[in-house]
Amino acid sequence: MPAPEKRNTVIEVHWESAVTWAIVGLISLILGLILYFYFGNIRVGIKNATSFDFSSFAWPLLALAPLAFMYAGYRVWASRREPSVLASCPYCNYEMEFTTVPEDDFTCDSCHRRVPVLDGRVLEVHGVTCGYCGHVNYMSEKTLVLICEDCDREIPLLNPDTGEMRHLPRGFARVDDDGVYELVLVAEGKEKEALITSLQHMLALNRNQLRSMLESLPVTLLTGIPRRKAEMLKAQVEASGGTAEFKLIGKQDQAAQQTSV
Ligand SMILES: [Zn+2]
Ligand SMILES: [Zn+2]
Repeated sequence: MPAPEKRNTVIEVHWESAVTWAIVGLISLILGLILYFYFGNIRVGIKNATSFDFSSFAWPLLALAPLAFMYAGYRVWASRREPSVLASCPYCNYEMEFTTVPEDDFTCDSCHRRVPVLDGRVLEVHGVTCGYCGHVNYMSEKTLVLICEDCDREIPLLNPDTGEMRHLPRGFARVDDDGVYELVLVAEGKEKEALITSLQHMLALNRNQLRSMLESLPVTLLTGIPRRKAEMLKAQVEASGGTAEFKLIGKQDQAAQQTSV
C-alpha cells in the first residue's frame, strides 16, 4: 500500500513542477528573442569568410516557450483541484490534510509519531506504562508488539477479548492459570551489575547480599507467585542478561483466588 500523501506535499510537487516549467519557458523565450534579433548573419570562419544566420535557432525556442508556460499553468490549476481530507493525530490532535482518505499508517507532522490507520480509520491510542522503566508508551488495537520508546524492551500485551498474549516476547509463555510458581535464577550473564540493579527492584535485598547470592547459582529468587508475575520477572532478569526459569510448585486455593480477582 502506498503511504498516504499529505495534501501540502502533493501541492508542493505541483508548484515545484509549475515553477520549473515557467523558468524553462522564460529562458526559452529570452534566448529565442536574443537569437532572433542579435544573431542573424554572423560572420564565422577564417577571415569571416562564411556568413551564418543563427536566427533560425530561435524558432524552436520560441515555440517551446508557450508550451512550457501552458504546462506550468496546468500544474497550478491541478494543485487547486486536489481534494482535501482531514485526519487528526490521536496523540497530539494535530490536524493534517490529505488528498485521499489515508489507508495506511502515517507520521504526524507535529509529534512525529506513527499514526495507526485501519480500513481508512485513524485508530484511538492508549497509554501503557513500561513495566521495566516506567516510561509511558502508546498502543492501538493494531499494535501487536510494543517496544518501549525509552528502554527498547518489549512490553507484553494482552488481548482484552481473549486474555491471551498478542505476541509472545522471547521467554514468555501462555498466561492465565491458577498455579503458583517459583522463579529460579540459573545464570548471571555478562552484565552482572545490570542484573544486580534489576534484582534490587525485585527483591528487598542490598547489592552486597545480592552479590553473595549470585555466587551460588542456581538460586530461588521468589516462590509462591502467580504465573503472570513469574513471566514478567523472568523477562526482567533476561533483559539484564541473566537466565531465569520458573517452575510450577502448586495451585492457588479457592479463597486466595477470590481475593486476588
Ligand atoms: Zn501528533
Ligand atoms: Zn521502558
